[in-house]
Amino acid sequence: MRAVAIDRLGTRVVVEGLRRTYGDGSGLLPTDLVIEPGEFLSVLGPSGCGKSTLLRLLAGLDRPQRGRIRFGDRVVCDVERAVFTPPRERGLGMVFQDLALWPHLSVAANVGFPLRVAGVPWAELATRVAEVLRRVDLDAAAEKMPHQLSGGQQQRVAIARALVARPSLLLLDEPLSALDAALREQLLGEIRSLATESGVTTVFVTHDRAEAMSVSDRIVVMRAGHIRQHGSPEQLYHDPADAFVAEFVGTFNPLPAGGGVRAERVRLIDDDTGPAADEVTLDAIVRAAVFTGGTYRLRCEVDGAPRPWVVPHPRAPDPGTEVRLALRTADVITLAS
Ligand code: ADP
Ligand code: MG
Repeated sequence: MRAVAIDRLGTRVVVEGLRRTYGDGSGLLPTDLVIEPGEFLSVLGPSGCGKSTLLRLLAGLDRPQRGRIRFGDRVVCDVERAVFTPPRERGLGMVFQDLALWPHLSVAANVGFPLRVAGVPWAELATRVAEVLRRVDLDAAAEKMPHQLSGGQQQRVAIARALVARPSLLLLDEPLSALDAALREQLLGEIRSLATESGVTTVFVTHDRAEAMSVSDRIVVMRAGHIRQHGSPEQLYHDPADAFVAEFVGTFNPLPAGGGVRAERVRLIDDDTGPAADEVTLDAIVRAAVFTGGTYRLRCEVDGAPRPWVVPHPRAPDPGTEVRLALRTADVITLAS
């Protein structure tokens, strides 16, 4: 996609005491969150934890039972004061899992639709559609119909349509989940570049930690209707607040004495060099090895550990092999339980 700088900043989003629960108590429990202008924020968590509920509330597609949402100085939702701004007046772009392209409209007509609804004059509409289609490398496909496009191209149409009205907030709810892994990675990189170029504040919902880790300024980890922790990908990885976050943002090996260590920080000693001065060692037995391309992930039984460890290693010892594992004490993660 081509870089076109747009002189516009994203909005600041402030969520206060926002609650939307369903009859069974699931949904979104009272939540506070601030998203900075131009920030690329991922909302990460397992299926059913309330990610889409939060996004739908930001979009105005659903109404909370409690709380308040501000976009910059504008209160777009305040239950106590009976304020509710409908989606089309919130300055949003949205891409959801179901792209919802209109099958009977051309690419250009799909992308221009939000401008048509907004009553933008025809000449300006045509210019802006052409510009955004260039940005997502779809200028040659303007007159095609959605069914004539590949999945990745359809995705780009949906992104172009979300950006054409120059939103100050872009909401993405698992927009790539229907695509294969290689295309997902490519498109995610392109979405991130587009968001950065346009300065739009972006909330990206995903259950895929690799996606969230690779593109986010900040990640919010949710579980069962709650935000458990937010921070940069590095903060969450190195300093998780609890075992749930630790497990969710990476592979985590629990130590016999409590705490744990990232799988990537464990070394199998299989030569004559002993442990370094700042390392401790543990005896283990290799139980299995899975080749993941480039490396094996060994499953090792560690004396006293509550469950087997995952240890990356360039070779695969036979099951039953007794080994020594080494880790640096500085890499031990202590968790508040
Ligand atoms: P996520 O997007 O993280 O997978 P959702 O926000 O869609 O989760 O849903 C959170 C919880 O709220 C789930 O337990 C889901 O079953 C429940 N839920 C969502 N929408 C509704 C609804 N319209 N009616 C009843 N329960 C719902
Ligand atoms: Mg969802």
